[in-house]
Amino acid sequence: MSDKDNIIEERESFFIRITGDFYDFVSGFAIPIVLVGTPIFLVLLGLTFLCHWDIVCSLFSLVSGFSLLFLAYIISLILVIDRLLLYRVSKERAPHYSLTVIWGIVLIGLGITLCFVTNNHNKQYKFDCAEWYVDEENHLYHWNKKCDKIGSTTHVAKGYEIRGQGLVFCDYCKDELDDYESSYKPIRRP
Ligand SMILES: [Zn+2]
Repeated sequence: MSDKDNIIEERESFFIRITGDFYDFVSGFAIPIVLVGTPIFLVLLGLTFLCHWDIVCSLFSLVSGFSLLFLAYIISLILVIDRLLLYRVSKERAPHYSLTVIWGIVLIGLGITLCFVTNNHNKQYKFDCAEWYVDEENHLYHWNKKCDKIGSTTHVAKGYEIRGQGLVFCDYCKDELDDYESSYKPIRRP
């Protein structure tokens, strides 16, 4: 039996115990998903800081927050990191099971944190990319250009252009947007 076989037989992991035989099956897909997903995610993330294009906004929504694609990526990333550490540590000595439980919980915690952080960034970016009707006279911005409260000196601006100007989101438009989003699209508000 080779050293590699010994390493594989001796490895012990929280994730291996809770997923059983599926660990190897799933982690087989994990490496390609991480190799392909990481550059795509990083490029899109970088673009969100450089431009405010609708196409980037739509694509980033698909690969961030709690989207199925991002959840699959996070699970894959956790499995790959877990597997890499196990193989590396196992070359010397198999880690104690309780350590892998702590390690597993830390990885899951980091994964959930990444989902929340990217979800918040995605909401902010959607606001930045969206067009709003700005009523500077009343210090309001509107979502609906036919809003009853809209003033006569309104101009259109993207979210990033009006951020930090102390404008208030119109109450009527807020309710309308809530109704619209609950029936169709996710949140688009700072
Ligand atoms: Zn309004």
